[in-house]
Amino acid sequence: MQSIECPWCGPRDEIEFRYGGQAGVAYPPDPAALSDEEWAGYVFVRDNPRGWFHERWFHAHGCRTWFSIRRHTVTHETEPGPALHGSGRAPSAPGAGEAG
Ligand SMILES: [Zn+2]
Repeated sequence: MQSIECPWCGPRDEIEFRYGGQAGVAYPPDPAALSDEEWAGYVFVRDNPRGWFHERWFHAHGCRTWFSIRRHTVTHETEPGPALHGSGRAPSAPGAGEAG
């Protein structure tokens, strides 16, 4: 079984997580201006590398937080990914609330 390291909970079995797809796919700034082909590309087309891949994961059976990791698609080695803007939460004590 693969182990995934949640930035807040530490390493856990992969069954605690839900896969969120490729990380870093930005929402189009003007979606109404996209052609059908461009919109389909945004919705459906993702990279599929043989090697390191930046992914989003959701700790569904833990802290219920989105985070990103880099995973090697052949060896399944993982390492922390860069922070995702506008998702997840800052590491803090439960119930500490949102920091300004
Ligand atoms: Zn967690």
